[in-house]
Amino acid sequence: MRQTTASTCCYCGVGCGVLIEHDGERVLDVTGDPSHPANHGKLCSKGSTLHLTGDLDARALYPELRLGKGLARARTSWDSALDHAANMFAKTIAEYGPDSVAFYISGQLLTEDYYAFNKLARALVGTNNIDSNSRLCMSSAVVGYKRSLGADAPPCSYEDIEQSDCVLIVGSNMAYAHPVLYRRLEEAKAKRPEMRIIVVDPRRTDTAELADQHLAILPGTDVALFHGILHLLLREGWIDRDFIEAHTDGFEDLKRLVRDYSPALVADLCGISVAELQDCARTIGSAPSFLSLWCMGVNQSTAGSAKNSALINLHLATGQIGKPGAGPFSLTGQPNAMGGRETGSLSNLLPGHREAGNAEHRAEVADYWGVPALPDTAGLSAIELFEAVRSCKIKALWIACTNPAQSMPDQERVHEALAGCPFVVVQEAFSTTETCHYADLLLPAASWGEKEGTVTNSERRVSHVRPAIAAPGEARPDWSITCDFARRLEKLIRPGEPSLFDFTNPAALFEEYKLLTQGRDLDLSGLSHVVLDRLGPQQWPFPAAARQGTPRLYEDGVFPTDNGRARFLAEQYQAPQEKREARFPLTLNTGRLRDHWHGMSRTGTAARLFGHVEEALLSMNGDDMRRRRLIDGQLVKVRSRRGELLLPVHKDDSLRPGQAFLPMHWGDRFLNGLGVNSLTLPAFDPISKQPELKHAGVEVEKVELP
Ligand code: SF4
Repeated sequence: MRQTTASTCCYCGVGCGVLIEHDGERVLDVTGDPSHPANHGKLCSKGSTLHLTGDLDARALYPELRLGKGLARARTSWDSALDHAANMFAKTIAEYGPDSVAFYISGQLLTEDYYAFNKLARALVGTNNIDSNSRLCMSSAVVGYKRSLGADAPPCSYEDIEQSDCVLIVGSNMAYAHPVLYRRLEEAKAKRPEMRIIVVDPRRTDTAELADQHLAILPGTDVALFHGILHLLLREGWIDRDFIEAHTDGFEDLKRLVRDYSPALVADLCGISVAELQDCARTIGSAPSFLSLWCMGVNQSTAGSAKNSALINLHLATGQIGKPGAGPFSLTGQPNAMGGRETGSLSNLLPGHREAGNAEHRAEVADYWGVPALPDTAGLSAIELFEAVRSCKIKALWIACTNPAQSMPDQERVHEALAGCPFVVVQEAFSTTETCHYADLLLPAASWGEKEGTVTNSERRVSHVRPAIAAPGEARPDWSITCDFARRLEKLIRPGEPSLFDFTNPAALFEEYKLLTQGRDLDLSGLSHVVLDRLGPQQWPFPAAARQGTPRLYEDGVFPTDNGRARFLAEQYQAPQEKREARFPLTLNTGRLRDHWHGMSRTGTAARLFGHVEEALLSMNGDDMRRRRLIDGQLVKVRSRRGELLLPVHKDDSLRPGQAFLPMHWGDRFLNGLGVNSLTLPAFDPISKQPELKHAGVEVEKVELP
């Protein structure tokens, strides 16, 4: 019988509501949920083809165990798989200590899954070695919000985008990465043509086509640009002195710093004209409301934290925060990257927006969990974690719902690390990922449409994710795998103690987790799966007495810092790590295509999604191609300091000379045994530890065919 289940899309951080048409066994169709406030019934090409991505050939269906390196994995039972994993982890912890094991999880997981993993790592194992692929995605925004505003909380709502008079979009091709939100912006602009849109991006993307002004800055020069804008805002008197005095600290230091960022210097650093810079500053300075949106072009950088802070400085200086149509609004890439931040799924965090490095926070969480203490040794972030695997400091690694063998920079080193790791567990819905190749134990996980929990989207809105059909084969929900493993492990390393993982469903996990947020900036204590069913998706904070969520933060000008005041950060512009030089004269940028998602484990199963772009192409400016005597479609070799790839070149004058672009989606299943990230570098921001995935020096040359 045909039925409909309301849930959310599993791809990007817009968090669109979907209606899943199914017969209890198969998903038959997917449409947008008109009642969901994120999308009001709209879906993009990815969301609307979810029902075409159910190919069972790509799925992990049964637990598989490899009994020795070099041997093939063989099917096994869940009991023997999880007993083996518990024995291996217990043995490793006993022999080498808790920091010899690590967990690498994902922004694709649901909040309840994240919470179970965090409790497992920190309370049971006693390690902070738990990081997630959100480190590659949002950790610079986390730092930006916390340093400047006091808490990791995007203060705006999607409605603010529609209400704004000036929208500044930086390092974000929303038209591809957040298509439904982009469509909302497009419609708002059509209704109110006086709305100004400025796009800052080295490429002339589809998003830039909507802009009144496109600033094609040189890659990585964002901090110089923001300081240059502030220089002009100050000079022209376009700042809000009352707001600065009443609600902020640190303005005098910043004022001194930006005095040196003259229009001529900034124009030179950014590769734009003084007039373009002046136009941009004038638009921002004279707008009744000013909102900024940003994504990976800002975050994936060795200066990601500084870029975030410099952009937030513009809002504090103009008082453009905490009012309709205004505020610094980072867009999250993954469907539940926000849930990961909330539950403490970066190595330096703890649940409820707490810090692993803060003794008081550790004591609060340990007390709540009923364990003597939480570990005080700093955990490893993604790049550090895989380096520790490579140097055999980490001897047992659990990877859930992510594909680091494809997505991490300097891919060869990550492959080496995984190949040499004594015990790798991969908990995954798709058996086709590059990472599965290295699994000593493959645990089949339920996927979208098959599991229940919650996700938080970019605007802090929590939605109830509901299952429509049973998971195939013996696949199980992530929370259930994690808790089952944890119960077996605690019998070995905590015998006789009451279980910390007595959860029988995801709602029970949420109930325990939400009380850890009580009284904190993100207070979720008024929410539950039942409340979400009754009221629909809600924005946090949603404290126990609340009747509805909170659309906008800081309307009273009080910030969650020690003294209630926001902070200006005064940091100099730093050039990206890899300088252009004769051997590698081009700057390689990587990013998303419209119709694919991450490593294509799901979107790669739907033929229709290859209609937009069929294969991985290296995009280059026509002048650079002529100089190298290259023609469109020709096979080329692209080389960086770390690796090389063979692929066709594509003439694309949306790029300035000196730049090249590769889509991020193709891994080693598609490109002659190598993936896009064999070219990128593992350098990372010193504060956020987010890697510089958008700026690698490369050279391109013709391949002479025999
Ligand atoms: Fe899914 Fe994002 Fe598309 Fe919405 S915009 S349908 S959440 S991929």
